[in-house]
Amino acid sequence: MATDKVHIFGQQCQAPRCQAKSKRSGIQCRRAAMRGMRVCRTHGGASTGPKTTEGRARCGAAKNVHGRETREKRRKRAEKLRELRGLEGVMKLLGMFE
Ligand SMILES: [Zn+2]
Repeated sequence: MATDKVHIFGQQCQAPRCQAKSKRSGIQCRRAAMRGMRVCRTHGGASTGPKTTEGRARCGAAKNVHGRETREKRRKRAEKLRELRGLEGVMKLLGMFE
């Protein structure tokens, strides 16, 4: 969350700014973000996320990418690391390590 705050109620209190950016102008919204959220009410701050099991499943199945990571990549890596730990155990049993 951004540290820059926006003054509301005439400088009486501060709130983090809405991080939403305009599609057309590329300018940040700058309204006060909702409590615990990074965006204002207009930009989805009031959203509570998927509620039904169907909706939650749909979100879970959606393509989730964070940087170079995907769920599939993480799953494959975990699988290979499990395999490696298993092989390590076998090698220890065979006395290949001290
Ligand atoms: Zn906004």
